[in-house]
Amino acid sequence: MNTNPHLELIIGTMFSGKSTELIRRVNRYEIAGYEIQLFKPAMDKRYSQEHVTSHDGLQKEVEFIQGLAEMEKRVRPTTEVLGIDEVQFMESDVVNFCDTYAQDGKIVVASGLLKDFQDKYFIFKDKLKDMSALLRIADHVTYLKAICTYQEGLAICGNEATRVQRVIDGKVAPADSPTVKVGGKKDYAPRCRKHFQFYD
Ligand SMILES: [Zn+2]
Repeated sequence: MNTNPHLELIIGTMFSGKSTELIRRVNRYEIAGYEIQLFKPAMDKRYSQEHVTSHDGLQKEVEFIQGLAEMEKRVRPTTEVLGIDEVQFMESDVVNFCDTYAQDGKIVVASGLLKDFQDKYFIFKDKLKDMSALLRIADHVTYLKAICTYQEGLAICGNEATRVQRVIDGKVAPADSPTVKVGGKKDYAPRCRKHFQFYD
């Protein structure tokens, strides 16, 4: 199979359809006959252990991994397209891994959060690098947005949401809340610039 080696990065806020877009792209390569593998860090146990599921329910078979070492072990030499969901939950060396993998003639499609709830670059779990390092080496970048659900009277705002506000008991979470809290619609609210409450 001819490949045009590169790294595709799908970044965006929660509820922007990142996983759905990842699945769509990996599916497209698979239909064209490429050998694919799809990985996801196992910390998110909300859904089935055999499928990657986006918030809107699309599914694709996925291999859950504890971290980079396990992914490196499980990547088959014949794989041509490697998908990584929730890449921000990996270790910093995932940046080098993706770079080397593309340099070796393969295709990487990775999706993840660019920023955390404080609007800072999301830091990998070993805290050595953040998502800006992955952004730097990407060949194609797609930035997806959600829809701002801020209530204005009886209607919601409806602008494109470039940020997600962490909410605890209906109030904006304090800055010292833990960065990683796997949650759903209840704990996070998509916000446009006008309605995001910025931290210092
Ligand atoms: Zn808004």
